[in-house]
Amino acid sequence: MSAGKNTPDTGSENNINRPSNFIKNIIDEDIKNGKNDARVHTRFPPEPNGYLHIGHAKSICLNFGLAQDYDGLCNLRFDDTNPVKEEDEYVKSIIEDVKWLGFDWEDRLYFASDYFEHMYDFAVELIRKGKAYVDDLNAEEIREYRGTLTKPGKESPYRNRGVEENLDLFSRMRAGEFPDGSKVLRAKIDMSSSNMNMRDPVMYRILHASHHRTGDAWSIYPMYDWAHGLEDSLEGITHSICTLEFEDHRPLYDWFLENLDGVHRPQQIEFARLNLTYTLMSKRKLLRLVNEKYVSGWDDPRMPTLAGMRRRGIPPAAIRDFADRIGVAKADSIVDRAMLDSCIRDDLNKNAKRVMVVLDPVKVVITNYPEDQVEELTAENNPEKEDAGSRTIPFSREIYIEREDFLEDAPKKFFRMVPGREVRLKHAYYVTCTNVIKDTAGEIVEIHCEYDPATKGGWSDDGRKVKGTLHWVSVKHAADVEVRLYDHLFTKENPDESREEKDFTAFLNPESLVTLKNCKAEPGLRESEPGESFQFLRKGYFCSDSKDFSGENPVFNLIVGLRDSWQKIENK
Ligand code: ATP
Ligand code: MG
Repeated sequence: MSAGKNTPDTGSENNINRPSNFIKNIIDEDIKNGKNDARVHTRFPPEPNGYLHIGHAKSICLNFGLAQDYDGLCNLRFDDTNPVKEEDEYVKSIIEDVKWLGFDWEDRLYFASDYFEHMYDFAVELIRKGKAYVDDLNAEEIREYRGTLTKPGKESPYRNRGVEENLDLFSRMRAGEFPDGSKVLRAKIDMSSSNMNMRDPVMYRILHASHHRTGDAWSIYPMYDWAHGLEDSLEGITHSICTLEFEDHRPLYDWFLENLDGVHRPQQIEFARLNLTYTLMSKRKLLRLVNEKYVSGWDDPRMPTLAGMRRRGIPPAAIRDFADRIGVAKADSIVDRAMLDSCIRDDLNKNAKRVMVVLDPVKVVITNYPEDQVEELTAENNPEKEDAGSRTIPFSREIYIEREDFLEDAPKKFFRMVPGREVRLKHAYYVTCTNVIKDTAGEIVEIHCEYDPATKGGWSDDGRKVKGTLHWVSVKHAADVEVRLYDHLFTKENPDESREEKDFTAFLNPESLVTLKNCKAEPGLRESEPGESFQFLRKGYFCSDSKDFSGENPVFNLIVGLRDSWQKIENK
């Protein structure tokens, strides 16, 4: 079985008719004016300090999508300038995730740490120009001297050191002569600027820390604002797209590049980050969920990480579709999780094979069916997909149906199995319940039915109609499977905003995972591959778990239910 398997694919089917947005308008204008020789070159610049989440996916789809739309290029670049929080494990997971999303950076995989030497040289250039200085104030003093939004800052007593002294001190900082925190290199801009970012920002700090790529080669590390523009510039990036919180940093981004000779100058453009209901997006908080064991790991199927979504069975094409549908805007908003679910359903409805699995089984004996007979009945795999084909499933005298599909005393509108009323077994026969067997506690242990041999395939020639159609599995052929039902990880739409000053963990949903150990599946599911997705008829979309996969008895993760609340909202 391979249809619907959750493996990497290409994003190419997406690249026609992607909707326009304000960034495209800027790019169109730049191309018209011949800026950057009409080139479009973007980048996705993650810091390897955690796993990527659905918010990053928005940025990935935007950056790689623009490159596709304009026949341009997009780099994958690790912004690895902070050795304390960064790890190789994260680098590997990010590479895997971007690939899985369907994007290709070809040979343009870069690391900010590869530019440390260049960055150092640029810093020396600013010192020589009298535009950067070594400051001996400590972190706390720097904060005090910085002033506030309403109060201008104060100049450091070290601000007017001579060029030679600065060059000497800076090279000794690099050589590791000074302890952590004892000196910094700062840009000499304007301590009374109304933009706090321009009040002599720190460019380098001393940090005797081992880096995951450069090891112990460096005792100083560049700050984000200094490093990021240089990385973009060195790679010839034309449009440097980032989230809104960097809007106030743009003057600084520009200042650094303006004050260096002959460097390429990319344009920074900010857009609103993705927020989703019932979902946390901060890496710091996701790390807490992992470390404090609220989830089983970064790839727990309830996590908003791409690793979690992959394991859950969410197709990458659905995430790309979602990114297109939410669009790109300049104002913050929160997107309904139901919209993502709707994109997932749209994809799986077309691509996932439809199979029968009984989650809460009760036994049915078809008393007029020959004892040892087994029929192989034909079942179509997906009526929504032309080439999906069909398979056979065994039918026999004893089958399982869902416990909730039978009621002895049913209300009028209950169209499933009740004593004396005929219902259809999907792909099989019409059956009528004739008897119910209970144990001493009154619990139903067996239901007896009679079938009509003239209704094979689930249809009647005499035009007789039945209202209910049930899914079922043959008892002696059934595969035992475990099914994990997932719900939102949080009970609150916005778990980040806690008016009661509670920690976000106070809003964890105790029912976000319900494990069903005694489910019965049609026998073909024993051969399902890890990561393969299915529609369990009448139950939802499920994916065989890629981690807890034990050959004979697969484990299935609920991807999403069948009911689409988003379509309803949209069609209102
Ligand atoms: P954190 O999650 O701790 O805030 P971060 O989002 O800043 O970290 P980075 O690795 O720096 O993590 O992000 C890489 C890129 O992804 C950045 O360009 C950032 O703007 C973008 N990005 C991060 N979160 C979102 C989001 N929720 N929506 C859209 N883009 C995002
Ligand atoms: Mg960041």
